[in-house]
Amino acid sequence: MPVLVMKFGGTSVATPDRIRRAAKRVGVEVSKGYDVIVIVSAMSGKTNELVGWVNETSPLYDAREYDAVVSSGENVTAGLMALTLQEMDVPARSWQGWQVPVRTTSAHSSARIEEIPTDNINSKFAEGMRVAVVAGFQGVSPEGRITTLGRGGSDTTAVAFAASFGAERCDIYTDVDGVYTTDPRVSSKARKLDRIAFEEMLELASLGARVLQTRSVELAMRYKVKLRVLSSFEEQSDDAGTLVCDEEEIMESNVVAGVAFSRDEAKMTLVSVADRPGIAASIFTALSDGGVNVDMIVQNIAEEGRTDMTWSCPTDQVMRAQKAVEAAKADAVINYQDVIADTDVAKVSVVGIGMRSHTGVAAKMFQVLSAEGINIKVITTSEIKISVLIDRKYMELAVQALHDAFELDKAA
Ligand code: ADP
Ligand code: ASP
Ligand code: MG
Repeated sequence: MPVLVMKFGGTSVATPDRIRRAAKRVGVEVSKGYDVIVIVSAMSGKTNELVGWVNETSPLYDAREYDAVVSSGENVTAGLMALTLQEMDVPARSWQGWQVPVRTTSAHSSARIEEIPTDNINSKFAEGMRVAVVAGFQGVSPEGRITTLGRGGSDTTAVAFAASFGAERCDIYTDVDGVYTTDPRVSSKARKLDRIAFEEMLELASLGARVLQTRSVELAMRYKVKLRVLSSFEEQSDDAGTLVCDEEEIMESNVVAGVAFSRDEAKMTLVSVADRPGIAASIFTALSDGGVNVDMIVQNIAEEGRTDMTWSCPTDQVMRAQKAVEAAKADAVINYQDVIADTDVAKVSVVGIGMRSHTGVAAKMFQVLSAEGINIKVITTSEIKISVLIDRKYMELAVQALHDAFELDKAA
């Protein structure tokens, strides 16, 4: 029988009643003749609560135990979903990651899926089971320890299962009815897209649009998984939601497809470092060895052999970054006068494959921000995106102004 993967996010399984609604939807697909693999998130808010407990117990926690704790939310919803389906007379059972097993790397808290053997679940399908409910977000390392895939990781679990089982489609059920031109919570003018290209979705996700985890889009693109995002709260037709697909499958699209933003950014500056060959290498090696994920980088023009070096990184890595540069200074690897951290910044980005062939997008973006009196602190670009770092208090304003200026409320 054809296989379908259906993933339900936290708000879609937030209560036993919502689990029942989701299960009904699964039942509809079973009655159409699909064997279904259901991937569930933890109930909404649960993972945050678990992360909070870990931080409270051990600020510099052992990542293996962090994973043991934060993976547990999904175990609850997987069991409840299986029970609910059984109550509806749908043959179902639950699987935790290690039981499948979802084999991952040992990079705890951000592990990557390496392999999902299909024989275990397929033999149950062959015996008449119709739904395999799998706890999302978790796996097992080569050492036999529980791992997690990073926040939002159930999306990646879902796509990885769809690829391994050759599923006809991977449906991501969430609390919005598709992918929008920007987060509908920030702009009331955000427009739902019927289709979006993998590459655009990949950029939007990695620049902060959390509707899909970045890695899930990467996997869908690589393994040609038919990926759809849709609402678990509305009745759905067969073409509901947003299809994430190859750009060739999209007839017309705007130059800019969407605006993404991330609040979780900090800007750090090393004041007065020696401007000599190798200095950037020394600084960024120290940061990388310290586990800091540097995003944007700017080096100022040097004066009298000294310069300032600025970078951005996630807010929760500022302390780590500070420690790393201080240690490098103590070891005389680098020398600087001061290190400054600005945690009141946000990153706003415009994304679109149309930028490959259209000029003037950057100029327009900067004009729009300037007209709103918003100062740009750092800029980075790639072939299909432009990102700026600005004061966080202007983030919503910037998103709305850019959405208006690029007329994203209107279809191409
Ligand atoms: P789930 O718990 O179902 O995984 P998430 O909270 O991870 O749901 O993702 C859905 C949320 O993503 C939406 O509620 C919305 O606020 C946010 N979001 C951000 N950018 C976008 C976008 N471009 N399109 C749709 N939703 C977006
Ligand atoms: N529950 C996990 C999280 O909140 C994984 C997920 O929902 O995708 O990040
Ligand atoms: Mg999510």
